[in-house]
Amino acid sequence: MGRYGIGYHAKYQNEVKMEPGTHNDEHYMKEAIRQARYSFDHNEIPVGCVIVCKNRIVAKAYNQIEMLNDATAHAEMIALTSAFNYLGAKYLTDCTLYVTLEPCMMCAGAMHWAQIGKLVYGASDPKKGFSQLGQGILHPKTEVISNILELECKQIIDRFFISLRDQN
Ligand SMILES: [Zn+2]
Repeated sequence: MGRYGIGYHAKYQNEVKMEPGTHNDEHYMKEAIRQARYSFDHNEIPVGCVIVCKNRIVAKAYNQIEMLNDATAHAEMIALTSAFNYLGAKYLTDCTLYVTLEPCMMCAGAMHWAQIGKLVYGASDPKKGFSQLGQGILHPKTEVISNILELECKQIIDRFFISLRDQN
């Protein structure tokens, strides 16, 4: 465990802090990047996510595929479940999901079912990103903003794969 080493041991035990106030997309993307750093410190592909509802962070999560031995434990899936639980709602039409990497098709599909109001992502994922199939996979009412703090989001993933390569 490194300097961000807070142990999240179960899929649904993500810390939720109330942070009222109005912030811009960069502010919340920085929070998502902070989550991505937790992934990095847990030797997970560093992807982080936060969900914001009415200027409050209602869910935070990072990729936990290795920790949970679950290939579907993407940051967005965990954050969505966390937000449903926290808000006691099955639709997230008033929420914005911030994620450091373009969501895959599974996560975009989950966001469709959640009817997420807005999706903001950092780095594009030309291999696995949902936009390979066009925007059709998301709910028609979901607003999409891409490439917020793109460089920072991409660098953390690049650094991770460089460190993996150096270990081998
Ligand atoms: Zn995904």
